Amino acid sequence: MQNSPLPFLDLKAQQRRIEPELRRRLEAVLAHCQFVLGPEVAELEEKLAAFCGAAHCVGVSSGTDALQIALMAEGIGRGDAVFLPAFTYTATAEVPLLLGATPVFVDVDPATFQIDPVHLRARIAAVAARGVLRPRAVIGVDLFGQPADWPALDAIAGEGGLFTLDDCAQSFGARLHGARLGTQAAATATSFFPSKPLGAYGDGGALFTESAERAALYRSLRTHGEGASRYEVLHTGVNGRLDTLQAAVLLAKLSVFEAELAARARIAAWYDALLPAGVIRPARVADAESAWAIYAVLLPDAATRARLQSALREAGIPTAIYYPRPLHQQPAYRAQHDGSALPVSEDLAARILALPIHPDLGEADVGRVCDAVRAALG
Ligand SMILES: *Cc1c(COP(=O)(O)O)cnc(C)c1O
Repeated sequence: MQNSPLPFLDLKAQQRRIEPELRRRLEAVLAHCQFVLGPEVAELEEKLAAFCGAAHCVGVSSGTDALQIALMAEGIGRGDAVFLPAFTYTATAEVPLLLGATPVFVDVDPATFQIDPVHLRARIAAVAARGVLRPRAVIGVDLFGQPADWPALDAIAGEGGLFTLDDCAQSFGARLHGARLGTQAAATATSFFPSKPLGAYGDGGALFTESAERAALYRSLRTHGEGASRYEVLHTGVNGRLDTLQAAVLLAKLSVFEAELAARARIAAWYDALLPAGVIRPARVADAESAWAIYAVLLPDAATRARLQSALREAGIPTAIYYPRPLHQQPAYRAQHDGSALPVSEDLAARILALPIHPDLGEADVGRVCDAVRAALG
């Protein structure tokens, strides 16, 4: 029993908890057959906007498409510099590149892992001074469930008139200074990939904004840039709508989302209390509540991490490395990087390790993980 594998993520346990509501929602879609932009999409948009206190929510086909539509709406493209953290998922950098813009990598805070506002200001100043690229946008990522330092990012972006985009793919449901994320930047993008805190049964995403103009543009862009009538094309858009079936799944999951966020926070506190000394717990962003997408610890060095990861695997405990390589060192993006030093991102990539966290993980499971960590490091 002790060695039976522990799931990193337990979507089956969650499905058992929500099954009646899930089936009711899916059957409603099967009955009306409006698979594209059916009534569940509008209902979900309304509920998500209310949940995070945003004026507008637009459902889209993925978190990546949410980021892309937000940048397309600002006309960002060739010659534009888009500032983003080097320590994030690839999608954050891929989107500006797809639009012909240039990602400029910024280092992160060594304690919270969030984009470093001091380095951001220096990077914007350096790009402006060089005069080759035009500083246009900042994509702040709320990494691992915690919010980036939005008041600082917003102030720095404001100095240069840069557009702010919150990549909240991992952190929908988190709070900063009492408010849920969704209104910190000019636009907020989230993802409903199944492993995110609020996950669908396939791809999905959403955009949030306070601006009615931006929301209308996002709605147009997600449907090929269509105008008031279906066959009037106002913009070059994409096929980027949220599926009705995914919206139905998300409506069922939204009914238990707050309870799941609370469960994740309890699990994080158990880890904090039970992990042995020598394992650095995740530092908390001040005056914030994490959505706990990921519980990531730091080990003293890469060799210790490798030893721990293989011992845990032997004990049936899966772990993951987010991220083994910062983006400026990825083969696809290396050529985009101006050679600026990003030492924190490189150091984190060598020493970070994510432990299992999901709402159905029990206190005994966390105890088992922590005992195995202690045994491996002892
Ligand atoms: C998951 C993720 C995305 C992309 O979301 P998809 O829905 O998979 O396209 C973007 N940014 C970050 C930080 C993510 O973790």
